[in-house]
Amino acid sequence: MAVPASAVPISSNVQFDAALIRKMSQQGPRYTSYPTADRFTDSFGMGDYLQAVNSVRSMGARNPLSLYIHIPFCDKLCYYCACNKIITKVRSKADEYLTYLKREIEMQGKLFADMNTVEQLHFGGGTPTYISDAQMGELMAYLRKWFRFATDDDGEYSIEIDPRTVSQERVHSLRAQGFNRISFGVQDFDPDVQKAVNRIQPEECTLGVMQAARDAGFRSISIDLIYGLPKQNLMTMDKTLSKVIAANPDRLSVYNYAHMPTLFKPQRRINEDELPSGETKLDMLSLCIKRLTEAGYVYIGMDHFAKPNDELAIAQRQGRLHRNFQGYSTHAEAEMVAMGVSAISSVGSTYSQNEKTLEGYYERLEQGELPICRGLKMNVDDLLRRIIIQMLMCNFELSVKSLELAYPITFANYFEKELEKLRALEADGLVTIDSEWITVTPKGRLLIRNICMVFDRYLGMPREVKVERMHYSKTI
Ligand code: SF4
Repeated sequence: MAVPASAVPISSNVQFDAALIRKMSQQGPRYTSYPTADRFTDSFGMGDYLQAVNSVRSMGARNPLSLYIHIPFCDKLCYYCACNKIITKVRSKADEYLTYLKREIEMQGKLFADMNTVEQLHFGGGTPTYISDAQMGELMAYLRKWFRFATDDDGEYSIEIDPRTVSQERVHSLRAQGFNRISFGVQDFDPDVQKAVNRIQPEECTLGVMQAARDAGFRSISIDLIYGLPKQNLMTMDKTLSKVIAANPDRLSVYNYAHMPTLFKPQRRINEDELPSGETKLDMLSLCIKRLTEAGYVYIGMDHFAKPNDELAIAQRQGRLHRNFQGYSTHAEAEMVAMGVSAISSVGSTYSQNEKTLEGYYERLEQGELPICRGLKMNVDDLLRRIIIQMLMCNFELSVKSLELAYPITFANYFEKELEKLRALEADGLVTIDSEWITVTPKGRLLIRNICMVFDRYLGMPREVKVERMHYSKTI
């Protein structure tokens, strides 16, 4: 089967325009934060973080808490991996890690004592289910000891799992331990593709875990696919999509594989001759959009799709969608406290990142310190641009009037240069601009990163500190 990219019809909220994508494709941030993490500096430390927590407290601690817990270990290496992870089969490493993680949880719990309720919890990695069922139960009990959690109905408690490492019983156990959203990678159902990327995940295993998650009462099941992997073509992608649609997840992410073997060592094991061409990748993307929107999924933005009745799609319709380090979220304006090696917090008007190596992380906790090694204090301009990028990413529109009410600026004067750049994008059909609204068009939605980049003051500016492995992927 072959669906040329240019022939793909318009779906309700997103339009695929191959010529425009070819023209606009460039490297750019994914804007899980603004300013982006490569702008953090090592002059920001624990003192700055404590000050941020104090100012949140003195302002009345209005926002709920969102906790992120990072488990960095994985059993096996996936060759496409670009994550910060540790591949090991030595399980005692997890014991040691959990000892230190609990110290950090206690320190953060004391800092936020009597302040806010946790309405959001996310376990990411690596592979959070690398730790055993008993270790997870203990860790969740420890979190509940130091933080007050909203009820299951009011809280969004999610975990990334690896279906290869969990039994159906474990899925039920995760639900009983308090998780109510679950996500996992499928990437591709094709056995040859799975072999080429060293991630053998039989279909029965994926479908079994999905069924168990449904039976256990998880409220949202989310799966990841990747296009651009070795041995993939339109045929394999079409078959995978049919299986995915039949499996009926609530949310889907469809990521573009960026082959950058000089930056990411595992990718050197991928046979470059087996990679699909750029044109085939575009055709695969258009096929994904066509099949998923025809199956009733709504394009949320930035690789994400959701069923119209999923809370992500509902939040977007109601203008409540938010974007943070874990992607899209329904809980706006939370203080995000991230714990674990390399985790990034967002508290008040600051970002702070933990030590990136286990040695550094353990050493700082040994000294009785929070393991913060770098971060950023945002100024008013950063906060203003952050809101603009949030609005564009989440709502695909920007109310000029509401910004002028919230900030002491005249939009047309303050953003004179940006408006000039936006007019060029308007000429290409990505946005429409009038005195009250900037609106992203259906064909601009796939290129939302290009539009947000107009408002990024830091692009092109030299970085204050050398950041290893920091790179931007292609905007599409
Ligand atoms: S892709 Fe995920 S599971 Fe695979 S090695 Fe990377 S972090 Fe681990």
